Amino acid sequence: MPSSSGSASRSASASKREHTDVRDGTLDLLRCPYCGGRLELVESSFHEREDGEITNAILGCHCCVFPIVAGIPVMHLDPAAVAAREQIEAGRPDLAARRMFALDDEQQAARFEETAASATATYREVVDALGPGFEGGYFLYRFSDPTYLVAEAVVRAVAATTLRGGGRGLDVCGGSGHLTRSLMDLSSPAPVVADFYFAKLWLARRFTAPGCEPVCCDGNAPLPFKTHAFGFVVCSDAFHYIWTKRLLASEMMRVAGDTGAVVVTHAHNALQWNPSAGMPLPPGAYRDLFDEMTPRLFAERTLLGEIVAGGPLDLSQAHGTAALDADLALTIIASRRADVWRPYPLEEPSEARGEFRVNPLYDVEPDGDPARLRLRFPSEDYEEEYGAARLYLPEEVLVERAAIDALPSVRLSSGLTSLARRRVVLDLPKRYY
Ligand SMILES: [Zn+2]
Repeated sequence: MPSSSGSASRSASASKREHTDVRDGTLDLLRCPYCGGRLELVESSFHEREDGEITNAILGCHCCVFPIVAGIPVMHLDPAAVAAREQIEAGRPDLAARRMFALDDEQQAARFEETAASATATYREVVDALGPGFEGGYFLYRFSDPTYLVAEAVVRAVAATTLRGGGRGLDVCGGSGHLTRSLMDLSSPAPVVADFYFAKLWLARRFTAPGCEPVCCDGNAPLPFKTHAFGFVVCSDAFHYIWTKRLLASEMMRVAGDTGAVVVTHAHNALQWNPSAGMPLPPGAYRDLFDEMTPRLFAERTLLGEIVAGGPLDLSQAHGTAALDADLALTIIASRRADVWRPYPLEEPSEARGEFRVNPLYDVEPDGDPARLRLRFPSEDYEEEYGAARLYLPEEVLVERAAIDALPSVRLSSGLTSLARRRVVLDLPKRYY
């Protein structure tokens, strides 16, 4: 239950601003993207706490005020953020949330709020309730797409190295937290997921990476974090959509610190055609951006081949110019640490972080033993973009009915281990679909 509000505290502490460290140190690591100043809770404005965490409030620095909406700091000044801040100041966090979720239509907003209020709603249902304006469809299939396989393996390898002695991970442009999820057991304290889209961050915290710290910010502005706050920083499948690449590269290196690593996965290659190109760079230009942190570039197709073959993932040598030039997408790893550059054995699926379930790309025939599972891509567009998934996802597979009936489960029966390796069975968040 909300425990305090602006009207009550206004008289008690007229213009008091105190440093509040309530959400596992999140306020401590936040910095204004414009003046660089610390953020403090504006006690004289409307604010609410729930279970010791700030849910709705106003943060102030030397130059600006920013809102916290539904527990998510909104560290930019786009029109929706300004409107949401005004709604918080007016004591209407419900209307502030509607602005940040971009729910302008009354009926859509009511439908979303009803779905979100249900404890049994799934990720898929909430994405549907956000309406056709929300680009969320393909993210349901993220955990088995080839881009994700490479990103996850690289992140698990490099973050395990640079966060070994403790330290925090940051997933920049992390969307609804699929890759953030892979940092949960490596990052201490919990990883931060940063994205411009508030709804995605909300989904990340509720479903995909529960316990992560979401921060809403603009990848084209300085990152709203203190220098050297992280030991590992990743940006996956998004760097080519950023216009101010010089700035983002510098910012990722600034917050990563001297003993950390910066990783960019699935950066589109300007030398190759891509259906959703964005504003890609050629390999050498990506290398130049991260030059001060000794970057090495890898061709995504080569890394995927290593993963499909069962490993190891070989990060000991940068790939050659011919392989880089010919590939659609690149992985850039920048770190001053020598121990990052080595081959990594792949992790075996064992105990689920969430629960093992059948990949939502598969239809399970209701009758018959063994059970027949068929691969069904959601659209031709999906198949065109992620067709390399056929390298490991079989068209059809027969599985003992009892093994399928035992799902969802936290442990894999021996009959399902090889299917988990091939991503027919996935370790999914609870209430995912
Ligand atoms: Zn400021």
